[in-house]
Amino acid sequence: MRENIKTIGLVAHDARKGDIMDWVRFNAEILSRHNMICTGTTGKLIEDMFSQEYPDLKPCITRLKSGPLGGDQQMGALIADGELDVLVFLTDPMTTQPHDVDVKALLRLCTVYNIVIALNKASADFIISSPLFDQPYMPKIHDYSEYLDREKVV
Ligand code: PGA
Repeated sequence: MRENIKTIGLVAHDARKGDIMDWVRFNAEILSRHNMICTGTTGKLIEDMFSQEYPDLKPCITRLKSGPLGGDQQMGALIADGELDVLVFLTDPMTTQPHDVDVKALLRLCTVYNIVIALNKASADFIISSPLFDQPYMPKIHDYSEYLDREKVV
C-alpha cells in the first residue's frame, strides 16, 4: 500500500504556467507535506517564485529536464516504475506542441498504470481536496499478463 505521502508530477505548458503557480500557491501548505517532481522549467519557476514565501516547498521539489528536452519522457519512466501517484499536467489546448508525441505518451502511460491525472486546474483542485489525497491508496493496475505472454502465440 502506498504511503500517505504522495509523489506528484507537475508539468505545465507555457500558456498554463501562470495557472500552475496559482495552484501551487493556493495549495502550498498541503504540497509541503508531499513530494513534487517537476519538468525543468515548471520546477524552476515554482522554486524561484516561492523560495521566500514558502521556503518549506523547495526541499520537496525534484527537477527533471525541461519537458521538450526529455523531461516528459523522464516523467513517463517514473510512472512506468511506479514512482508517481498523481500527475498534474496543465496543457495548452490552443497551441501545437513540438513535443506532442511525448505529451501523448505521458497521458497514455497514466492510463496504462491507472495514475491519477489532472489536465486542468479545476481537476487538480478536486484531486488535492479529495480525502484520499492524505490516505494510503494503491491504484489497481490492469492485468497485462495476457499481453506479456503473447510471444507464445507467434
Ligand atoms: P517545462 O516542460 O516545464 O520544462 O516547460 C513542460 C512541457 O513538458 O511542456
